Amino acid sequence: MAKPLNILFVASEIYPIAKTGGVADVAYGLPLALRDLDHDVRVMLPKYGAISERKNRIHEINRLKDIPIDVGPVREFATVKSSSIVNTRTKVQAYMTTNRPYFDSKWGLYSDPETGVEYADNDERFIFFARSVIQTCLLLGWIPQVVHVNDWHTALVAAYMRTIYADKFKNTKIVFTIHNISNQGVFPFKETFIKTGLPESCAEDAKHKTKFNFMKLGLMYADHITTVSKTYGEELMSDAKLTDGLNTIIKKRKDVFTPIINGIDTTIWTPEKDKLIPKRYTLDSLDKKEANKEALVEKFDLKFNAETPVIAMISRLVEQKGLGLLKQAAEKLFKEDVQLVVLGEGDKDIEEWLKETAKKHPNKMSVKIGFDENLSHLLEAGADMYLMPSLFEPCGLNQLYSFAYGTVPIARATGGLIDTVKEYDTKTKRGNGFVFEEYKAADMLEAIKRALTVFQDKEQWTNLVKNGMAEDHSWNNSSLKYEEVYRKILQSVTGK
Ligand code: ADP
Repeated sequence: MAKPLNILFVASEIYPIAKTGGVADVAYGLPLALRDLDHDVRVMLPKYGAISERKNRIHEINRLKDIPIDVGPVREFATVKSSSIVNTRTKVQAYMTTNRPYFDSKWGLYSDPETGVEYADNDERFIFFARSVIQTCLLLGWIPQVVHVNDWHTALVAAYMRTIYADKFKNTKIVFTIHNISNQGVFPFKETFIKTGLPESCAEDAKHKTKFNFMKLGLMYADHITTVSKTYGEELMSDAKLTDGLNTIIKKRKDVFTPIINGIDTTIWTPEKDKLIPKRYTLDSLDKKEANKEALVEKFDLKFNAETPVIAMISRLVEQKGLGLLKQAAEKLFKEDVQLVVLGEGDKDIEEWLKETAKKHPNKMSVKIGFDENLSHLLEAGADMYLMPSLFEPCGLNQLYSFAYGTVPIARATGGLIDTVKEYDTKTKRGNGFVFEEYKAADMLEAIKRALTVFQDKEQWTNLVKNGMAEDHSWNNSSLKYEEVYRKILQSVTGK
């Protein structure tokens, strides 16, 4: 058997410690799955103000106190603390960077929760964090064989390891995963470049369209790049608009670019064992799902009717998620016999529109603004259908959770949704959801109507629900693909 590897997995959010979206779930499920494969995996993230030390059992590590870190002319100190992430099977060590001005004093991950405005010092915060990752490895004397960094927030780790600290990390291979290229970490070039302390030879690699670009540094310095679905991988190489021109770099690196579809942690997201839902069920006891529907409808102050299909959405409220289509289609949608429940937070305009529309249609639509992990499980378990009309979607996790919970996705054909959601065919009885191609409200409505029609035919509907539930979207397959990437790139390290 091949030797286990030492892997450091670095992300700006990791469930359940800090989460705003899918990255947190991946940074939880994948390291745990890699640990199950026997690797020494550790994870690292910043300790934001909202993270409770008590709840996460965070404690100090003697060797990692008051580490001086320079961010340009400013000297700050990092104290790296210890915690862990666990599921019912496994436990993984977590390191957390604490620092008062950059993290502890700020409640949000990237923006002020009150105003929604991004923190002005986000460049400094993630420069500081990247340097704290390097210092942690050096001070622990633990030089991982693989450092796996994710999205722009952690991309700078790659640049430091290949420049200032090249000799220390010469045997370390770096994997960079693109979860969402629409956020690249773009800042004024000169000011931010000085703050990084990177050598002048890096300047061109850090510059994109005259701006400092964190994401670009990850793409340039990683040994291998991955992304979260095959179709998004193709989009990343071909779509200049989606990537704001970084597609040319990804295309140049296509020999070291591998798409790997995200998995889901099936110890958390399974209706059979989910403690966050009123009634547990399996593929063979689907009749019990109705109790969850009743609880969901009640929670959202709507009137329960078993025959009325409930459509759910759980989402960051941003343009990417297709809320614009919902806005255009809402009046027509509510002419149908449906109920829509939405859980989300984000753009204030979208929040307002959702609240107003729900007020206008009190029997048809209900909205909860906020981030509520527990409630998200009830939505997945209680709804009949799940709406994902995304403008673009790198992978998408909620369609995968929906499959597991027997909730049928209605999705736009983009990115990872193309790879996972297949139109149901009543003749062949194959397929697991409903799909529309164009980003058009009329097309979305048509797809919803197809779903409503099949919903009327109980036999067909049960068949459709079971198709999705029978699929395996666990990390079992995808964690092996990451392992394969790690082993392949390590082949060039002598003696490994
Ligand atoms: P993205 O990462 O673009 O937000 P994904 O579909 O990959 O989209 O992942 C979103 C994750 O965040 C899912 O686990 C989803 O349930 C969760 N989520 C999003 N908004 C909320 C919310 N308001 N409350 C609870 N969970 C949420």
